[in-house]
Parts: sequence; C-alpha cells; structure tokens
Amino acid sequence: MKAHDGMYIDGAWRPAAGTDTIAVVNPADEQVIAHVPAGTAEDVDAAVRAARAAFPAWAATPPAERAALIAALRDALAARKDEIAATVTAELGAPPQAAQAIHAGLPVAVAGTYADLAATYGFEEEAGNSTVLLEPVGVVGAITPWNYPLHQIVAKVAPALAAGCTVVLKPAEDTPLTARHFAEAAHEAGLPAGVFNLVTGLGPVAGQALAEHPGVDMVSFTGSTAVGRRIGAVAGGAVKRVALELGGKSANVILPGADLAKAVAVGVANVMSNSGQTCSAWTRMLVHRDQYDEAVALAAQAVGKYVPGDRIGPLVNAKQQERVRGYIEQGVAEGARLVAGGPEAPLDKGYYVSPTVFADVTPAMTIAQEEIFGPVVSILAYEDEDDALRIANGTVYGLAGAVWAADDETAVAFARRMETGQVDINGGRFNPLAPFGGYKQSGVGRELGAHGLAEYLQTKSLQF
Ligand code: NAP
Ligand code: MG
Repeated sequence: MKAHDGMYIDGAWRPAAGTDTIAVVNPADEQVIAHVPAGTAEDVDAAVRAARAAFPAWAATPPAERAALIAALRDALAARKDEIAATVTAELGAPPQAAQAIHAGLPVAVAGTYADLAATYGFEEEAGNSTVLLEPVGVVGAITPWNYPLHQIVAKVAPALAAGCTVVLKPAEDTPLTARHFAEAAHEAGLPAGVFNLVTGLGPVAGQALAEHPGVDMVSFTGSTAVGRRIGAVAGGAVKRVALELGGKSANVILPGADLAKAVAVGVANVMSNSGQTCSAWTRMLVHRDQYDEAVALAAQAVGKYVPGDRIGPLVNAKQQERVRGYIEQGVAEGARLVAGGPEAPLDKGYYVSPTVFADVTPAMTIAQEEIFGPVVSILAYEDEDDALRIANGTVYGLAGAVWAADDETAVAFARRMETGQVDINGGRFNPLAPFGGYKQSGVGRELGAHGLAEYLQTKSLQF
C-alpha cells in the first residue's frame, strides 16, 4: 500500500473508514490497474468537517494570498504533466498525444486563469449608498465525471478556492487516480489543511452523502442529466446553492457559402476527439439540402483517419461501450443510413466503438435527440435558415454549437438565435476564459472565467 492510498482529508492521506474498494480498469486492455477505497458517508462526514473547520480562515485569507497558492497549485500540476498524462491514458484510455495536450495541459491553463482572477477580481462593488461585498458561499461539494478527469476537477476547485470556498471532491469511480494526482499537487502547493479534501467512492454512496450533507453549502456537479436532476432536487430541498453541468446534443450548422470541406472536417474531428465523450461535442451536423451528398461523402472520408487503438481510444468502460453500440443499432433500426462504422466492436479487446457516421437522419430520431457520448456523427439536411434553426434548437439540450458561413457576420446573426451556451464562429478556438454551461436541460450555472468564479460567491450589501 502506497503512502497516498486512502482519502486526502484535512491535509493528510488517511485510511478510509470502511474496507470496500473500487477496481480501476484500463479500458484499452480491460486489465485492473489499481484499487482505491470506496468511501462511505463516514469518510464524507470527516471531509466535510475538515472543510468547515478550514473555511473561516480561508475565506478571510487576502485574495492575493489565495492567488499565490492557486499559482503554486498550477505549477505543481505542470510539474506532474507527464505522470498525469500517463494516468489519464491508463484509466480513461486517451491516446498519449491527447492526454498530454488536452487532459494534462488544459487544466494547467485553467488553474492559471484562476490564479490571475483571484488576484484581480472585484470582491467589493459600490451601488448607490451601498457597498456590496462578494463573499464565498462556504463549503462546496464537487462531484465530477470521468470524461476529462483533471479538467472537470480544476474547473470546479480552482474557482471555488479563488472565491474563498473550501472543497470536498468526489471524483468519478472510473478515474480516481487522476484525482489523486490533483490532491498531491494541492498538498505540495501548500494549501492549508482542510481547504481541499478528496473522497473516492461510488456516486450513489459517497456522492449522494456529499450532496445531502448539511455541512455542504453548495453542490457543483458535472455528469448525466439523470443524476443532475436528483442532485438539483436534493440541493433544492435543503436550499443549497447548486451548479449543474449536464449533457448536450450540439449542432454544427453549415450555412451555404461556408467552406464546406473545412466545416465538415473540423466537425468530424470535434466529435471524434476523446472518443466522442465530450458533453459539448457537435454530434449533429446540419447541411443545406443542395450540399448534402457532398457533405456526407466528405464526412465518410474524414472519419477514415480515426483508426481505433491509434488516433482514437476506447470508451471509458464496458457499460458505455454497450450503450453507444445500442444507440448505433437504434439509428439503423429507425432508418438512418450508415456511411461509416457501425455497431460491431472494431477490436477484440478493449471498449472500442467504430467511428460512425449516419446520413439521412431526421430530427425526431433517437440518435438526433439523445446524448450518445460516443464517436457518432449524425448528418441532417435542412431546407432553409429557419428550418436549420428549428432543427438546431429542437432538442432539450443547449450546451454548445458551431456556425459556419461565408462571413462572421452571417454566422453571428444565426448564432444569436440559437438556444445554447457556447457557439464557435467559423472554427473559433476554445477559450478557457469564456463561460461554459447550458441553456435548457444542459444545466444551471456556468464554469470557467470570471462567470465561473461568480458561481461560488454570494453578496452582502452594506448601506451607508
Ligand atoms: P454520472 O453517473 O452522472 O456520473 C457523474 C458523477 O456523479 C460521478 O462522479 C458519479 O459517480 C456521480 N454520481 C452518480 N450517481 C450519483 C448520485 N446518486 N448522487 C451523487 N453523485 C452521483 O454519469 P455516468 O453514469 O458516468 O455517465 C452516463 C452518461 O452521462 C454518459 O453516457 C453521458 O451521456 C453523460 N455524461 C455527461 C458528462 C458531461 O460532461 N456533462 C460527463 C460524463 C457523462 P460514479 O462515477 O460512481 O458513477
Ligand atoms: Mg455512474
């Protein structure tokens, strides 16, 4: 047993209260690579107590000092980049290049934005005869998914710490080893004991105990809409602050006049990235009727680059693989036309799914409505711009999207009418300072940048 096998609570690694463990599996070869403790309500309680005890001093720490500690955390993550990338490859199955650039690299950048924001944010405002103080909400229970194991943690913990909150993290059961690297980095950065705590465990046990704990003032959750609904209900019942980052079914809208080949290639790459396990993926490609056949041919060609086991990794576990293959079978059954891929597993070992492109998809089909969370693109035809808008907005989700047009002005005019939290204009780049979050059932609240920090603050007005 290594020194850090256990829970990170109150500034130290401690044995779990119980003896149950969770096996961590490498999804590329189905081998068990580690075991972590399955935390219970008892572990959660110890962690929440530590976070509560640490809260008053951390909240009173000058923002510049909090900023310096977040900068140290960023540096500790950067120093572990290779180790983190290797761990994400082992427990998520991400190809090494993506593990380095995205899974290990992006969180360093995001932590850096919060080191800057903590130092510069206006924690006090004037309004008429009032001074408005922006104060931390308190103890945050953070519950994260496996798809971007470290990014999802940093996108919650860094702004919470910047705001002056203390945190208890329950990471996904499939990717707890990356969370341990984060805890080690937090320790090395010198965060005071109890400011950050880690409890590994199962969602319905440790996750639920955390969401329900009366010592938790706010729950920040990223994951499925089904679990998000339950957490929202629990938080609502206890009148706790809640932030929910849920699923998506985003549209990649290609208007006439756009660079079709580029829009299709970037659109396919967007969905194949991380094996399709990205909540903001543009899983519906919308193409004008006159360009439809050409777009389908381009997409079938573009997807050929994604060779399973090389450019594209497996899905995270057998359950997700089965789920995604089930959606592909359903697409065929409902009359969509397979132009690449299909339900058969492409390799004998590992939880791989064939990169799949569907044509002749209509808006009412299951594969055009539900989040698949796998490497599956659906191409839909539209008649005119209003039709494209109806299709783009025609799901319960509203997390992200893309618009391609002859010029930015045309694309922006369309984007303004979309019911969604983010839109990339003519291939605009990801921005770690841009607020990220959902319209409609894609969630409540925003992550990243100054808006992500504001989620963890509450106001106190002083009248003079
Ligand atoms: P999930 O169950 O919603 O998992 C997200 C997190 O919530 C995990 O840490 C999970 O723990 C925890 N959790 C589960 N049940 C809980 C409960 N009753 N109370 C408190 N916490 C709980 O998601 P999943 O089952 O791993 O994935 C299923 C689907 O969710 C995917 O196919 C995809 O559609 C969607 N998803 C969306 C995102 C996103 O970024 N929005 C990310 C991942 C998945 P465990 O790890 O132990 O389950
Ligand atoms: Mg689950």
